[in-house]
Amino acid sequence: MKTVLYTCPYVPAEWIAAHGLRPWRIVCSAAGPDAVAARREGMCAYARSFLNEALSRSEVDAVVMTTLCDQMRRAFDVPAVGPIRAFLLNIPATWQSAGAFDYYVEELRRLGRFLVAVGGLEPSSAHLTAIMGQYQAARRSILGARPGRTARRWAELVERFGRGGPAGLDEAPDPPQDAAEGREARDEADGWQRFAQRRPDSVRPLPSVKAATPTQYAMRHRNDEIALAIIGGPLLKQDFDIYDLIEDNGGRIVFDATETGERGWPGQFDPAALAEDPLTALGRAYFEGVRDPSRRPNDPLHAWLKDACRSHRVRGVIYYRHLWCDAWHAELSRVKHTLGLPVLAIEAACEGVTAGQGGTRDDGRTTDMNHGLTRIDTDCRADKASRRLGGGLSRSEGLDRPALAFGKGRHPSAMRNTQDAIRNTKCGQRTADRIMAFFEMLR
Ligand code: SF4
Repeated sequence: MKTVLYTCPYVPAEWIAAHGLRPWRIVCSAAGPDAVAARREGMCAYARSFLNEALSRSEVDAVVMTTLCDQMRRAFDVPAVGPIRAFLLNIPATWQSAGAFDYYVEELRRLGRFLVAVGGLEPSSAHLTAIMGQYQAARRSILGARPGRTARRWAELVERFGRGGPAGLDEAPDPPQDAAEGREARDEADGWQRFAQRRPDSVRPLPSVKAATPTQYAMRHRNDEIALAIIGGPLLKQDFDIYDLIEDNGGRIVFDATETGERGWPGQFDPAALAEDPLTALGRAYFEGVRDPSRRPNDPLHAWLKDACRSHRVRGVIYYRHLWCDAWHAELSRVKHTLGLPVLAIEAACEGVTAGQGGTRDDGRTTDMNHGLTRIDTDCRADKASRRLGGGLSRSEGLDRPALAFGKGRHPSAMRNTQDAIRNTKCGQRTADRIMAFFEMLR
């Protein structure tokens, strides 16, 4: 079975799967120094890593990219002339007119023709409807499993869904690394083959993801934990360490609005529209359901963030973005204003890049990790709190009181995990210090 790789949330997995191909919405691994794209300065680490994944994985037969941001739009120039079949899906920035939506649906039809050219089969409406039902049930299962899992485990479940689809959705062991990865990819492809060969009327309900028992939940979460939201662009696989850093030290991610989290999910399918024309229903759920800062206007994104933060009783926000991601850089001040919550902003750079080279602010700080969570700005309330604590944390200086870090009052094993995460160079010392200072402010 042929594999179609993508990462943009506006590409419907259901549409690819309905063509009998395997959609793989990848959560990228950070590209190293020998990556396909040698350039680092000026290039968003996620776009660079996606290019590397698309062009270096032998199991990928085609790649779909979108015009959601300028970085990806320009990155498409590389596979467009490369050895792999590549498709650029145009996503209209405006969304309020019927014409913008019709244009998006036409783009999906054009994508369908590309998928047929790659080796797919044009799907019947019944088959597409059945696939959409499978995906919707799977997403419900994943959302239902959220409260019983740590943020990392949930993010890994979502990543597995993007890689294996509903066919592979179950309580699976942690994804094997390195050598075992190729075997796992083949197993998943087999699963997809079986999934695609089912007749629509033989589609069975999905196995639901098991919820954690109350005891497990209590062991994982204490009442004094600080409820946090993480908001921003996509996370690289290596960035999942930030979940551990937060949750091992007194925080709890109750709302994951990163692109690799809930923010990158479509809305519910409208049953009436589904009966009439499944492709239009599919397009509607993605076009209006996925919230992105690039939309004009992007008020729905802010309204959604505000509602979710309120309903989850969020007390603070971790705002995560990649260096040179203009979309999320520009949105920071409005997010602070809209939410009215303390915000800890993290700007992640990649190896060999000096944080702050992104333009408006440059404190000359170099990365302190291989793939770096390198530069943190806090809003004024966090700054005040750190001064009150005597840590001297300002917009450009580190915290000189290590006693603040590493889970004051936490279980020793949690402290050990944090130390390991830092030692493994996935999360920098300064990142840990600032997160701890942020927590102190929120307590
Ligand atoms: S993180 Fe920002 S710049 Fe990078 S690919 Fe995503 S939207 Fe584009």
